[in-house]
Amino acid sequence: MIDRADVVVIGSGGLGASTAFHLAARGAGEVVVLDKDELASQTSPRAAGLMSHARTSDLMVRLVQLATANLKRFTAETGQPLDWTQSGSLKVARRDEDVNVIDGDVARGERLGLDVARVSPDDAHRLNPFLQPTGITAVMRIGDDLYFDPAQVAIGYVRGAEACGVTMLPHTTVTRVTIEDEHVTAVETDRGTIRTRVVVDAAGAWTRQIAAASGITIPLVPTRHQLFVTEPVKGVFAELPIVRIADAAVYVRPCDGGFLWGGFEEGPRMFDIDDLGPQFRMPDTPLDSDVLWQMADDVRAQLPVLREARVREHRGGLPTMTADGEHIVGPAPRAEGFFIAGGCNVAGLSVSSAIGDVLAAWIVDGEPPLDLGPLSVTRFASGSVDDLERRAAWQYRHFYGVA
Ligand SMILES: Cc1cc2nc3c(=O)[nH]c(=O)nc-3n(C[C@H](O)[C@H](O)[C@H](O)COP(=O)(O)OP(=O)(O)OC[C@H]3O[C@@H](n4cnc5c(N)ncnc54)[C@H](O)[C@@H]3O)c2cc1C
Repeated sequence: MIDRADVVVIGSGGLGASTAFHLAARGAGEVVVLDKDELASQTSPRAAGLMSHARTSDLMVRLVQLATANLKRFTAETGQPLDWTQSGSLKVARRDEDVNVIDGDVARGERLGLDVARVSPDDAHRLNPFLQPTGITAVMRIGDDLYFDPAQVAIGYVRGAEACGVTMLPHTTVTRVTIEDEHVTAVETDRGTIRTRVVVDAAGAWTRQIAAASGITIPLVPTRHQLFVTEPVKGVFAELPIVRIADAAVYVRPCDGGFLWGGFEEGPRMFDIDDLGPQFRMPDTPLDSDVLWQMADDVRAQLPVLREARVREHRGGLPTMTADGEHIVGPAPRAEGFFIAGGCNVAGLSVSSAIGDVLAAWIVDGEPPLDLGPLSVTRFASGSVDDLERRAAWQYRHFYGVA
């Protein structure tokens, strides 16, 4: 096995693979990606593939704009396929108190150059006839929003990185990052040690455990998220706008002539990944279809099709939530050379191309092209696991920014 590298990336999901690709593109030297499983096989291919531009901070809107630009040139840059459709989206409020959230989203979007506008419920119905105008108080149309095939992103970046000379080592488990005098010196694996001065912890649901083995605290919690894919439905076509019902936290988008839909329930199941054992893989995530059927009931007046369409696939995984709903990206304190790309908050795949791009520039140039200070792990005061889970569950349920 290789015994030294300029950068070691732990994890070949969207975040790790994108970082490796952009590192190679920037001439970062010998880059190695380690994965304990098959390459690009865990959370990333299980996602819904939604790219949402209505975010609660300017920084996140900027990252999503960069991510969209990167995904649009994905095939040109990586040589790999990526199917995406700029269908636009409709963000729907059903309660009077959520109208100001929609107005705030529109105002931020306009200020940052997005194609956004308020539309009437009837116009929303005309844009997507599966959305009934009943019980709707406000709708925002976001022309920039798109969806993509989630299974193509991580593997595309893996193959693109390989073509640029990155070494991929699947079935190689990282056990610890060695830190001496507050500097990374090596990565220990079940197949030997790799000497390096820079490591990127992009291990998805396992990010926290890898850091903890080196005494670094990353407060995130793996949280179950699940979705249905339906059989084809008459009248569905790829350009139908994505619909998000804000207070119910339910989303639906076209998928292969049918729909893909899911949502964010009250009291989500959270896991300590260690309790699931070393053999656990994302396809083993325990699923519960009742959670999704309750959501379908909640939005029955607006989206009756969710109850009616036959389900052909039920899938889920364990994205990681943080206490404030923002990602964790950047260097770890008191561990020179230890970078984190995690805390995906069920939105990490869409921005993986941007986070990998910015992180690679930070590693190669010594500073990020965008100020990622708000995403630093140092923003969290130490707190109990119970407190983290309580706050993370609130963030999960309020994914669309309504209180
Ligand atoms: C049902 C569902 C729907 C979602 N929908 C969306 C969406 O619409 N839009 C969006 O942006 N995001 C969505 N997400 C979230 C998205 O999937 C994640 O944000 C993203 O995939 C996280 O990527 P990652 O690289 O961090 O993790 P992963 O893809 O899980 O990659 C981490 C890798 O690290 C490896 N690893 C772990 N431990 C070790 C170790 N010790 N040694 C070596 N390797 C290790 C793992 O094997 C794995 O391959 C969804 C998630 C789910 C489950």
